[in-house]
Amino acid sequence: MTSELPVALVTGSASGIGLAIARRLSREGYAVVVHSRSSVDAGRQIAGELRDAVYFQADLSIEADRRHLVEQALERYGRLDVLVNNAGISRIIAHSDLLAATSDVWRELNEVNLVAPYHLVALAEQALRASARTGHAGCVVNISSHAGVRPKGASIPYAATKAALNHVTRLLALSLAPDIRVNAIAPGLVDTPLTAGWQHAQELWRTRSPMKRAATPDDIADLVAALVNNQYLTGEILVADGGLNLT
Ligand code: NAD
Repeated sequence: MTSELPVALVTGSASGIGLAIARRLSREGYAVVVHSRSSVDAGRQIAGELRDAVYFQADLSIEADRRHLVEQALERYGRLDVLVNNAGISRIIAHSDLLAATSDVWRELNEVNLVAPYHLVALAEQALRASARTGHAGCVVNISSHAGVRPKGASIPYAATKAALNHVTRLLALSLAPDIRVNAIAPGLVDTPLTAGWQHAQELWRTRSPMKRAATPDDIADLVAALVNNQYLTGEILVADGGLNLT
């Protein structure tokens, strides 16, 4: 049976930014597909707390898992209106240490941060197009990084995969309009368990950014909600770094 509620798949939503996005879209009235690579118990618990949500596990570095994730979502709800490509991985490698960024690191980051988001859009394309027939364009939001906009970031491979994701965002926006809108959010530092120990970055945002702080996951979730609710924006890369890029 087809869900009466619009449906959002949020990848990597058992923790950090993705969790805030899942909660926010649930409050906006979406049935949410919560997903993670490995934290199954946390994912199930979160889905249990949200109205009409479900949890599915999938390793997005594996093509068959991506296919299975979209199939499971469509089997469960019969529709898909929003895809948030939030799952991503980072490696901290000094930009000057060229050999430390091995081919394996490049391949791993590329598969999860770039190929998987693109492939999920391809797998969801027909369902997202069908969403347009309900009066609202299907909507894709890619979570990239300010490191994909400026020559910054945890490592060169990380920054490069996020820059490529930004470009794919624009290319897909052009080829999928008007049925599907595709935008990206490029956060600077966001306070998550992952970044709690990043003293240098925390200090940088406290002292140098005009907003004098890192973003909260809810700051990013607010932007996702704005992009989902707005019916006109497409192909935009919203830099959410508290103005650090101005300094
Ligand atoms: P996080 O580690 O809490 O979340 C990452 C999520 O991605 C996890 O749920 C994990 O399950 C999922 N994931 C990773 N590899 C996967 C795989 N192979 N298959 C399936 N899922 C996988 O980190 P976060 O800080 O919440 O990051 C979320 C997104 O925001 C990422 O794309 C990250 O690059 C981006 N981002 C984060 C920050 C920051 O400061 N935290 C800044 C800029 C961009």
